[in-house]
Amino acid sequence: MKKSRLGKTGLMVTELGFGGIPIMQLGANDAAEMVRYCFDRGVTFFDTANMYMDSEGKIGQALEGVRDQVVIATKTLERSRQKAAEHIANSLRQLRTDYIDIFQFHNLSAESELEAVLAPGGAMEAATQAKDKGQIRHIGFSAHNKDAALKVVQTGLFETIQFPFNFVETQALEALFPAAAERDMGIIAMKPLGGGMLERADICFKFLQQYPHVVPIPGVSNKEEFDQIVALYETPAPLTDRDRQEMERIREQLGDAFCRRCGYCLPCPQGVLIREAQMFPAIMKRMTPQQTLAFTKGPIATVAECIECGECEEKCPYNLPIVEMLRRHAEAYRELEALLR
Ligand code: SF4
Ligand code: SF4
Repeated sequence: MKKSRLGKTGLMVTELGFGGIPIMQLGANDAAEMVRYCFDRGVTFFDTANMYMDSEGKIGQALEGVRDQVVIATKTLERSRQKAAEHIANSLRQLRTDYIDIFQFHNLSAESELEAVLAPGGAMEAATQAKDKGQIRHIGFSAHNKDAALKVVQTGLFETIQFPFNFVETQALEALFPAAAERDMGIIAMKPLGGGMLERADICFKFLQQYPHVVPIPGVSNKEEFDQIVALYETPAPLTDRDRQEMERIREQLGDAFCRRCGYCLPCPQGVLIREAQMFPAIMKRMTPQQTLAFTKGPIATVAECIECGECEEKCPYNLPIVEMLRRHAEAYRELEALLR
């Protein structure tokens, strides 16, 4: 598999990375086998996060003997120095390594998140200390909101950016990716398959191959799916007119039913965790029913606080019928819960 330089990190990563979310639903051995299969097929770039349950541990187990041949990225949602330091120590332990290639601040999707990370006693201090000790090689971030992400990029403090990018979510192309490229940042595309919402992998990756400086990290949990994606890289093909028509059809179809997790609708005056609750359908597609319930319990519980004031809908740039969507997700949650009783 071809490798490219991940911006100013200087790291050489495969043109296709591995996203560590879906292996959460596999047992430890199956997950390790899946990770190892991807490595054997040539992938050497693995992304995970402290919050992806046991994903770090599974990746650590699978890659223990080949650590020097892979690039590992992980993330923390913690914003304080002390908690972030604990996360770094935990990630090192779980990943069975003494260094993390890329340590990312997870979801800096609001200016307040960036401020918290950079404040005295904030998480950046822990990352910088760990970097000085050689436990972290590079510092990056992930986000879902292009305006907030642009501000993070403009600080010049981060070497990589991870942002949703697929043929339905292209907002990063306007200013965000150009600004990151101008600063020679490594650009990582999360959700190349729309977080499980896009089923045509062929079109998804033909689209992404038009942007070779952007490294996608699809989350895969079975070998057939992974082989299909690898084949698209072994014999790349351009988008056809038919593909473009299909992309347009899918965009239109998803237009009013697909939350991009940008957070422009926030905050909700009632404390409804809109973005997290909106992830319910994507999570249900990618996790076991039990994991779906465990992962979405908190956000779905907040939906009951909605007073239908409509503030969020006014702010959503995609004109999503948020109130109705949240109601449906809460209903689907209850149905799933009843099924498992
Ligand atoms: S409609 Fe509901 S979710 Fe939206 S802002 Fe109002 S209370 Fe919050
Ligand atoms: S509901 Fe709309 S504004 Fe809110 S996160 Fe989703 S796409 Fe963004």
